Amino acid sequence: MITVTQALDHLFALTAPLPVETVPLIQAAERVLARPVTARRDQPPFAASAMDGYAVPEAAPGQRFTVIGESAAGARFDGPVSPGQAVRIFTGAPVPQGATRIVIQEDVTRDGDAITLNADLDENLYIRPAGTDFRNGQTVPAPKRLSPQDVALLAAMNIAEVPVTRKPRVALISTGNELVMPGDTPGPDQIIASNTFGLHALLRDLGAEPRILPIARDTSSSLIHGFSLVEDADLVITIGGASVGDHDLVAQVAAELGMERAFHKVSMRPGKPLMSGRLNGAMMIGLPGNPVSAMVCGHVFVAPVIRAMLGLGAAPAPRHNTQLAAPLTPNGPREHYMRAVVSEAGITALDRQDSSLLSVLGRANALLVRPAGDGAHTAGEIVSYLPL
Ligand code: AMP
Ligand code: MG
Repeated sequence: MITVTQALDHLFALTAPLPVETVPLIQAAERVLARPVTARRDQPPFAASAMDGYAVPEAAPGQRFTVIGESAAGARFDGPVSPGQAVRIFTGAPVPQGATRIVIQEDVTRDGDAITLNADLDENLYIRPAGTDFRNGQTVPAPKRLSPQDVALLAAMNIAEVPVTRKPRVALISTGNELVMPGDTPGPDQIIASNTFGLHALLRDLGAEPRILPIARDTSSSLIHGFSLVEDADLVITIGGASVGDHDLVAQVAAELGMERAFHKVSMRPGKPLMSGRLNGAMMIGLPGNPVSAMVCGHVFVAPVIRAMLGLGAAPAPRHNTQLAAPLTPNGPREHYMRAVVSEAGITALDRQDSSLLSVLGRANALLVRPAGDGAHTAGEIVSYLPL
């Protein structure tokens, strides 16, 4: 059996960044910027007022000016301001030539076309120089998953078309005679396919384009039919049927279909019967069926693979460190991803760790990572975890 780190290395070796496509800015949020993009203008493109007030060449308490015009956002005052003159100005408006500062309207007493500056003047100039936010030619580096803030910046840079990595297309095949879809009426021996939907949600969250294929039954023909529906997926994920029981046919059928297997079985808990390889040009990952195992493998293996496909680099899921809020008994020989809760007090492993318990996983906000053979720990010791 290989370790989690070795399995990840195999997975990364099977993964290549996907091609670049261009999307309209309105669709760019949460996509991965594939190439650096460059501002096409200065922002602001002119020295702009930061406040509503009066643009003046100079200012001292009690000074008087004649108001000679107005500069509004989108409609500048054309012409210079000379000593003794002021231009009424609003936030975002171009500062007229000759003005050195904006006196805010709260510091001014106005009488017709005349203003007098109050005794107590705000010292700020309230002028945003041209290009103070960004300059023409300034770049946003790639790769980067675009946040709402990034989208606003790209918009300000007048980048209407954004080069992004194509979303990884992922086909999800659930396997099992016992499974029905949520909303269906299960027979007496049936259960609802659940982790399929959890993985779909996780994949969406990661920036992939998942597709749930019809449930394959535990027969070769049904699995072969399932694989035939994969079409143009970059990644095929099977769920269940991956261990060595009489009804676990995924490895066998995939091999018959020509899968070059990279590995089968990883030394971890939960998730041991994990497999991966290449099948008809796509990458294939066979996940164990137990709901928690499938979701844990989703976080530990599928998420890094999707990030690598998106061009974000080949790296394991980021870990955090915190102190134990409760002691831990020794771990067994496999790396263990314990369902746990992180709070201000630290991290606490939940009592029940059976890999079928979605209600426990739902309460967890972290996977406490126990190395293989890790000894007992007391409260207060530092451990690492994957946030969920
Ligand atoms: P398997 O890996 O096929 O042996 O399945 C292990 C356990 O996970 C069994 O109890 C299955 O009923 C259950 N299981 C398999 N696939 C799913 C699924 N998609 N959703 C929920 N449970 C599943
Ligand atoms: Mg099964």
